[in-house]
Amino acid sequence: MRPTGKLHLGHLVGALENWVSLQNEFENYHLVADYHALTTNLSTSELYDNSIDMIIDWLSAGIDPVKSPVFRQSQIKEHAELHLLFSMLITTARLERNPTLKEQARDLKIETMSYGHLGYPVLQAADILLYKGNLVPVGEDQVPHIEITREIARRFNTQYGNVFPEPEPRLTKFARLPGLDGNQKMSKSTGNTILLSDSPEEIQKKLRTAVTDPQKIRKGDPGRPDICLVFTYHQKFNPAAVGEIRKGCESGALGCVDCKKQCGAAIANALAPLREKRAYYETHRDEVKNILADGEKRAKHTAQQTMSEVHEAMAIG
Ligand code: AMP
Repeated sequence: MRPTGKLHLGHLVGALENWVSLQNEFENYHLVADYHALTTNLSTSELYDNSIDMIIDWLSAGIDPVKSPVFRQSQIKEHAELHLLFSMLITTARLERNPTLKEQARDLKIETMSYGHLGYPVLQAADILLYKGNLVPVGEDQVPHIEITREIARRFNTQYGNVFPEPEPRLTKFARLPGLDGNQKMSKSTGNTILLSDSPEEIQKKLRTAVTDPQKIRKGDPGRPDICLVFTYHQKFNPAAVGEIRKGCESGALGCVDCKKQCGAAIANALAPLREKRAYYETHRDEVKNILADGEKRAKHTAQQTMSEVHEAMAIG
């Protein structure tokens, strides 16, 4: 994940929940993609603090740094070397066809793109394959990048010998959580988010602005839950009440104001344990720094091993 600010519900339900559940079964690597953050913001003044804040969100959501290392990409230079080698194995035309990049350029109104931004899936391939990742828990927007990673792994293996696995994406049930404005994806760049660190009051306030079924103007009007993003949030955060909410919405008996209040309460409730843990880490930031130092040592060890194999396969270095 890129340290571009505080995490939102999309990060949690699209990726982070899978990280937490997979860490018991697999050897996970949790990467702070700080080089990647430079693709959309060249300023580095907040990069470190944003990284620590993001790791606090991870730890609050249940990431166990003893089970699996937490580290910054920029501290392990092998990412940069493998990125360079991989960049020879893919054409610019292939990268220009990437639908996620086109979507991002549209949302951020980017007219001309840097070389590094165009190639960011190549750096992502290095991030994954340096640790020989075979399962990548991401949101739906990242699936095209995993496909690019697979192509690069295949190309490397054919050209130089079998070093890398061909990884697969692992999606959650809510792999593209919609934003409050009705946009298909909750995203910081479109400002339509509920943050993991929002207070119950902030959550309620934000939900009041959420776009609902335009045909349901007042209580009594029948609504269509399947096109309403608040209903999607209910499905995720209030599953026990979903049947009742659908009935109330469709019949008109449940108005949007009430429905949003119930939804806000359910989200605030689901985030309560995270809020508690965050309060602890926010006053123990040194602990987080130690977690990073340990994670970086462990990740570096694996990265160096993989690069030795790469050097040997390519007969360089
Ligand atoms: P990013 O902030 O773009 O670096 O995203 C970090 C991770 O969160 C990626 O795996 C994304 O696919 C996932 N993600 C971000 N926004 C959403 C969303 N609205 N729904 C589901 N997953 C998301």
